[in-house]
Amino acid sequence: KAAGKNTYAIFGSHMAELLRKRRELEHDLRAAIEQREQIEVFYQPVYSALGEAACSLEALVRWKHPTCGYISPTEFIPIAEETGLIHEIGIIVLEDACSVLSELPQMTVSINASGLELQSPAYSLRIMTALANRGLSPERLEIELTESVAIGDNRQLDRSITILRSAGVKIAIDDFGTGYSSFSRVQKFAVDRIKIDKSFIDDLHRSDSRAMVAAIITMAQAKGLKITAEGVETAEQLELLKGLGCDHLQGFHLSRPLARAGIISLLQLQSSA
Ligand code: C2E
Ligand code: CA
Ligand code: CA
Ligand code: CA
Repeated sequence: KAAGKNTYAIFGSHMAELLRKRRELEHDLRAAIEQREQIEVFYQPVYSALGEAACSLEALVRWKHPTCGYISPTEFIPIAEETGLIHEIGIIVLEDACSVLSELPQMTVSINASGLELQSPAYSLRIMTALANRGLSPERLEIELTESVAIGDNRQLDRSITILRSAGVKIAIDDFGTGYSSFSRVQKFAVDRIKIDKSFIDDLHRSDSRAMVAAIITMAQAKGLKITAEGVETAEQLELLKGLGCDHLQGFHLSRPLARAGIISLLQLQSSA
């Protein structure tokens, strides 16, 4: 009984500690967004299966905490979603992405959006205004939504997608294959691209995974969708994916996400090669 009580006390103090950390992070995130300097946007190059050069960039948000160092978006995006700060983060990333589009006229850029952002009626107008302010063609921006968000049943979200797509903005389904949607559900997606989740790419050495990826690609091609494979980490994966018919490839084997200066020097190297 004494041990039980003890365990409970340890568990209780552990929980209290977690809660305290979480509140502190939330407070710091709010401050970071107000100051803006700690929130950075990195860009990971995406390569065409045909060419050698990067043709697109995926914007990935970074939080450089003054004492903890870089905190992963997988850690702070959920906090941002729970507190509503996700809208602010989305605006920072959108502005940064638009300025990169202005600076690099040969590139397209994709941004990741939370379902909560697309459920806001203000979202599509915000995107269109940001593009128009810089005179950017909407076709150069792509919005990535995870499969679970895209298949969710939300009228405002569907409306946002319809408005954006009819204006020319591209929509991609991120982490494709992880959302348990049936092929018949996929038939109804009104999107431009799927990004095959890294978990499938990791398992490409297995014949059943290769068959799965081949089936996804066949289905996507029949629908006229573009296909990106993400999380490409080896030369073997790269060759297999090219052979299977992926249009675009992305992963550490090709390039890690880089700060803006790194992207610009990479592209300069490419154009002089
Ligand atoms: P995601 O959209 O699936 O992004 C891909 C993640 O995989 C990125 O992690 C990227 O750095 C990483 N990655 C790319 N290639 C490789 C590879 O070859 N191997 C491995 N192991 N990893 C690779 P990151 O930047 O930590 O982002 C994690 C997630 O956070 C993203 O997953 C996305 O869901 C979310 N996220 C990032 N930026 C934003 C944003 O601006 N807004 C929202 N709402 N979510 C974001
Ligand atoms: Ca993504
Ligand atoms: Ca992904
Ligand atoms: Ca992911």
